[in-house]
Amino acid sequence: MNFLITGGAGFLGAALSNRLFRQGHHVRVLDDLSTGDPEVLHPDIHFTRGDINDRPKLWTLLQEIDCVYHLAARVSVPESILFPRDYNEVNVGGTATLMEAVRDAGTTRVVLASSGAIYGNQDDPMLSEGMPPHPSSPYAVSKLASEWYVRTIGALSGVETICLRIFNAYGPGQRIPPAHPPVIPNFIRQALQNGTLIFHGDGNQTRDYVYVDDVVNAMVACATVDYVKEKVINVGSGAETSIRDLAKLVKEIAGGDPEEVYNPRIGSGVSRMCADISLAKEKLNYVPLIPLDMGLRLTLEQDPQFKNGSK
Ligand code: NAD
Repeated sequence: MNFLITGGAGFLGAALSNRLFRQGHHVRVLDDLSTGDPEVLHPDIHFTRGDINDRPKLWTLLQEIDCVYHLAARVSVPESILFPRDYNEVNVGGTATLMEAVRDAGTTRVVLASSGAIYGNQDDPMLSEGMPPHPSSPYAVSKLASEWYVRTIGALSGVETICLRIFNAYGPGQRIPPAHPPVIPNFIRQALQNGTLIFHGDGNQTRDYVYVDDVVNAMVACATVDYVKEKVINVGSGAETSIRDLAKLVKEIAGGDPEEVYNPRIGSGVSRMCADISLAKEKLNYVPLIPLDMGLRLTLEQDPQFKNGSK
């Protein structure tokens, strides 16, 4: 098959692009490299540097494409609180631009990387697709709006669409930006340096951490699964882990005895999250294969950022 992957030089996009390429598919990547790195892609993947709002470029890249994976986005919850307009322009505007181009190019299927963040705080932390969304950050709003652009333009134009609500993905290749780093690679780095594990809040907030290869399995399945109208599907591990328990595991695996420091909470204020993955199991034959302790070990061993860091 022929694939276009937007944001394909990023953490999840590169893992997906390389997997599809290794399976023998033709893969094109569009990425503006604002956070991505083309060096992590197999050299024979067709890479184009460009913006998701560049419609002529999209039109050219979409010729002969069967399925688009749309991952290009700004991805930080705290940053989105500071710069909601940028998040709207790239995440929402970019999705509308892509869907307009997809519609006109006659592409068969679009898979959107949406987010578990769209649920926000709910009475029941086991989050299932039927719950009314309650986004509590501009990032989450932008992902919910993206879902609706994908679903609506898809339904109006006959393009098949699947929106994957991905929970907290982690694994080798996840960047650690200086501002608002993701918790797992940041904790691993801090533990290896025997530095300080910084908590935002009391550490009792929970998340569903899902290993990158499991996310890629779910994404790959979306290309060929029999289509049922406008699917929205959770992708997580199905396990709920507190930040305190995560820190304990990281210390066991990375070694060291870093000091724990508790700072005031930042971000969206969502207290508990766990993905109900029944629908993914049913529709995508999805089974998460890598539990958190194993995923942390693999991250430590395989991520060049942590080279020689294993206990
Ligand atoms: P990432 O930052 O590594 O990847 C995003 C990619 O998009 C980067 O390569 C970046 O350069 C590119 N990009 C940003 N703005 C662009 C623009 N204007 N035009 C073209 N390309 C642009 O982040 P990631 O963690 O790999 O996330 C990929 C997707 O998955 C995002 O849509 C994100 O919202 C979604 N998602 C990720 C997670 C997670 O835990 N990693 C969870 C839920 C959803």
